[in-house]
Amino acid sequence: LEAKEEFSHKTRAMDVMRPRKNDPPLTVITQDSMTVEDVETIVTKTTYSGYPVVVSRASQRLVGFVLRRDLIISIENARKKQDGIVSTSIICFTDYCPPLPPSSPSVLKLRSILDLSPFTVTDETPMEIVVDIFRKLGLRQCLVTHNGKLLGIITKKDVLKHIAQMANQDPESILFN
Ligand code: ADP
Repeated sequence: LEAKEEFSHKTRAMDVMRPRKNDPPLTVITQDSMTVEDVETIVTKTTYSGYPVVVSRASQRLVGFVLRRDLIISIENARKKQDGIVSTSIICFTDYCPPLPPSSPSVLKLRSILDLSPFTVTDETPMEIVVDIFRKLGLRQCLVTHNGKLLGIITKKDVLKHIAQMANQDPESILFN
């Protein structure tokens, strides 16, 4: 609860999160504007365990987090069992789905698979604290924000790699990490 400046020279969440500088942007899903086909493309082209859900690409406001396997299962089930779900159906993670023209295909509502309060830290958070949070809460991943906007993601593996790196570089620091 004190000695904040003690951390100022140390690694922060922004140094460990993905994407790194010059990496392609974070793969996100929007809350009510992507089609079944859009999301199917994302889950086929990427192998991430999950995807942050945002209000819109432009706003990058975080709404929640959805696991890849839940998306795959839900879409597969809906295509088989739910009338009117086709490639052009909009996927909606919100309570109230936007009104669409009467001719458009049924909306696929996936609110139930959305984790509405994924753990987040700000980009300035010292990695000591992030590591501690991962340990104490048993997190699989944590999202990184700046001024409420989504910036990146840190997975458990990213944290383990960071710890291994710290151990190699500076044996002293392991005592404090
Ligand atoms: P793991 O870290 O256990 O391999 P993932 O497969 O989910 O888990 O993530 C692989 C790498 O990609 C990690 O370094 C992680 O930070 C990053 N990552 C995870 N999810 C996303 C995403 N939606 N968009 C971009 N990068 C991601």
